[in-house]
Amino acid sequence: MTIAIMGAMPEEIAPILEKVGEYKTTSYAGNNYYEAQYKGLNLVIAYSKIGKVFSTLTAATLCEHFGAKKLLFSGVAGAISSDLKVGDLIVATKLAQHDLDITAFGHPFGYVPEGAVFVESDKELNSLAYEVAKEMQKPLQEGVIATGDQFVADEARKNWIGNTFGADALEMEGASVAVVCDALNVPFFILRAISDAADMDASFSFDEFLETSAVQSAAFVMNMVDKLAQK
Ligand code: SAH
Repeated sequence: MTIAIMGAMPEEIAPILEKVGEYKTTSYAGNNYYEAQYKGLNLVIAYSKIGKVFSTLTAATLCEHFGAKKLLFSGVAGAISSDLKVGDLIVATKLAQHDLDITAFGHPFGYVPEGAVFVESDKELNSLAYEVAKEMQKPLQEGVIATGDQFVADEARKNWIGNTFGADALEMEGASVAVVCDALNVPFFILRAISDAADMDASFSFDEFLETSAVQSAAFVMNMVDKLAQK
């Protein structure tokens, strides 16, 4: 089975490439895709570049061109919930686009006709994540993740997103990956380690913790892959 592992930035997939060791690099549609044999699985690994458009392209390519049958996303996010601190892990139960707005026509935020405000992630992968968390003795919080083409470094915007979508964390790729995988019937899993609190210090916190948080998330996702390899 082919499993995709995706991040948005090089830092998010570097620890994964390091773990798999040898891989074949293919350039496609402006990105590099790294294919590896790992414990009997075919892995295809890529970072998309930041934001909803690039992540849509990469997720669709991973599924349609490389034939991924499951997709695991590993990366960092800003916390909305005060329970989430830098380095903590959150798995998305459902995702929404916080910057999608045709409310002028009476629709709710995050909604367009024939779409849905929330896309739910795969329950089986999420419950596998709980097994992994237990074995790692690592706390794992689940919650709603809100996605938009905006680095949020503003308390008011963050609170608005939290209140409007019931979101616990925010980032810039999860919901677009979710839309692609949902449309293509590819079970997906979105994991984020907190890098900042989406407040006025967010950019400094992000720069300081990107690498360590990305490593936390990647290590967890690789344990998920190990579990999938055992099945
Ligand atoms: N420092 C980078 C830009 C990072 S953008 C540069 O200069 O090139 C932030 C990235 O981390 C996105 O991929 C997003 O998914 C995630 N992220 C972490 N904290 C975030 C926040 N507060 N708001 C939005 N995205 C955040």
